[in-house]
Amino acid sequence: MALPFSAGLGLKLACAEEIDTDRLGTFTGEVERRGSPRETVAAKARLGMEALGLPLGLASEGSFGPHPVLLFVPGTEELMVFIDDELGIEVCERLVSTETNYASVSAASIDNLQGFLRQVKFPSHALIVRANRPQSVASAGESAALNQNGAGKILKGLRSIEQLEKAIQQCQAQSEDGLALVQTDMRAHMNPTRMRLIRKLAVKLTRRLQKLCELCQCPGWGLTGVEPGLPCGLCGFPSDAARFEIYSCPRCDHEAKLPRQDGLTHVDPGACQRCNP
Ligand SMILES: [Zn+2]
Ligand SMILES: [Zn+2]
Repeated sequence: MALPFSAGLGLKLACAEEIDTDRLGTFTGEVERRGSPRETVAAKARLGMEALGLPLGLASEGSFGPHPVLLFVPGTEELMVFIDDELGIEVCERLVSTETNYASVSAASIDNLQGFLRQVKFPSHALIVRANRPQSVASAGESAALNQNGAGKILKGLRSIEQLEKAIQQCQAQSEDGLALVQTDMRAHMNPTRMRLIRKLAVKLTRRLQKLCELCQCPGWGLTGVEPGLPCGLCGFPSDAARFEIYSCPRCDHEAKLPRQDGLTHVDPGACQRCNP
């Protein structure tokens, strides 16, 4: 994130090293995320601003799961927010991609995992291991080994075959079905694929901040919404697809409704409610 922000905006990044962002929620679920990703990313930036005593803040936040459009493909959504309390603005950019190694598998040993390990880019990308079906607190006895959710011990940041093998043995012993759950570690510092996406998003956000509102000259002019109603190519009936893109200023009320950037002016009759109900 540092390079695009220094090259594009002349801003120097300072890291708030002491902050425990886990208290805003973890991917592995020991701490539940309370806010939406949009709220969480802003809260994260504010923690950094507070810790460093700076009026500007920057943070990113990722979520993973089935792709919102291509439902059976794993997808990732990255958000990045820039806060400037002197200007009184929050500018958020977003990137949705299928570029992710997000995956999991349950296993009794490391022996049959070769294909999975290749697929998730181990060991350049770290793994997490936990019990597939954690024993209940009562039967596990040793409650110290369990977190608040009773999900058993979660071993994170595994980057060698030896660590992985040991973790699988340890976690399958704590699982009712004798299986360990092996998952990709999606924390950015453990996941170079995510780092690349975050770099891309930082470039996108930098470009957005280079664009000024033509009325008040505030940085951050950009796409903030769409207006549906793109007509059918055959009958002209309005569809749910975006007809216009809405651009707005993060500070004043100035807004512009523009035709789609991709030049699309009609939807295919196959996607029309009237032609193909
Ligand atoms: Zn139609
Ligand atoms: Zn403005």
